[in-house]
Amino acid sequence: MSIDKRFLGLYLHVPFCEHHCAYCDFNTYTATLENIIVSQTVDAICDDLINSAPAITPCYAVKSIFFGGGTPTFLTSTQLTKLMNTIQKYYDVHEDAEISAESNPSRVDSTRFKELILAGFNRLSIGVQSLDNSILKSLDRTHTAQEAIDAFNSARDAGFNNINLDLMYRLPNQTAELWSESIHKALELQPEHLSIYSLTLEPGTRFERMHKGGNLPLPDEDEEIKMMEYAITTLKMHGYDHYEVSNFAKSGYRCRHNQIYWNNEEYLGVGPGAVSYLNGRRWKRERLPSRYANKVFHNQDLTVEEETLSKLRTMGETIILGLRLLDGISLRRLNERFEIDPMEFYSTVIKSGIEQNLLSLNGHILKLTHSGLLIADTISEQFLISD
Ligand code: SF4
Repeated sequence: MSIDKRFLGLYLHVPFCEHHCAYCDFNTYTATLENIIVSQTVDAICDDLINSAPAITPCYAVKSIFFGGGTPTFLTSTQLTKLMNTIQKYYDVHEDAEISAESNPSRVDSTRFKELILAGFNRLSIGVQSLDNSILKSLDRTHTAQEAIDAFNSARDAGFNNINLDLMYRLPNQTAELWSESIHKALELQPEHLSIYSLTLEPGTRFERMHKGGNLPLPDEDEEIKMMEYAITTLKMHGYDHYEVSNFAKSGYRCRHNQIYWNNEEYLGVGPGAVSYLNGRRWKRERLPSRYANKVFHNQDLTVEEETLSKLRTMGETIILGLRLLDGISLRRLNERFEIDPMEFYSTVIKSGIEQNLLSLNGHILKLTHSGLLIADTISEQFLISD
């Protein structure tokens, strides 16, 4: 790696799942491995990687790779290895790069996980969501709690020593007791990292329709806040560092790839619907796998949406993302980066946030307070001033 190269994260989108969960609005499609579109998409992603490399490799070294989706482990190990080999061949991947795959607990075992390690993955993120069977059922997941535990143990046996578990709260029929049980069962496994998300009702999902029809009994806002507070207290007590609004890690295991997003740094997204952010430009690739593959095979432009971000917009987004980090954001560094004094530019928002005990300012470090963390999105929005 040449020393004057910049770092970037590489995101690869696998847009397939064996089943579509009722709450999910990700760009993913149900398929079976036999569907021709699956192998076509893998080939197209490889070609897309190759076509994108000449603009990237001379200037950037890859410091993290993240296979997301969808369900990356929906693909065969041969297909995942093919994608990984293409990356290794055409990109300058840092020798210490964090290389993650998302996985679901269904249809994975120790052999499968060993194959992932052989392919080069060194971090695994398992979509557990809950460790209660009744909740999993109401959540429309295809696995049981025991299958999730077995998946974790198989990954450990296979040699993964950096594993994240995703858990969700504010779920249909979820009580505080059921939430606490899931957390404690997850803690017994001793994962290196936990991501804790509240259910959001995304437009167009089955859950959103059920909610509108009054058929989705969700915990209310007070219960939701208590669930998050319980998670924060319990995970901290068990030695996890609460380093981002929804993320907790044992020492040394913060997710490097996601920190690229929160620090508003550069990334290349490859695959259907993947978003890239380089040189102040953000753009999205064609979403539909068949159209994406067709365009790649015919060397057509894959961009469906793009924007060039102004300095003010970039600064606003950098604050919004940075405030998600419990370490907060350095106003001095923002001033150096954007040549605008944020303390002056956002004085009203910052002063009002401090008066309401939602923001704290210690020297040049601006942070969300504990109360602010619980309504992070609402506070952050105020930093987006249009220019
Ligand atoms: S497995 Fe994950 S990506 Fe696939 S539909 Fe369910 S929530 Fe969405």
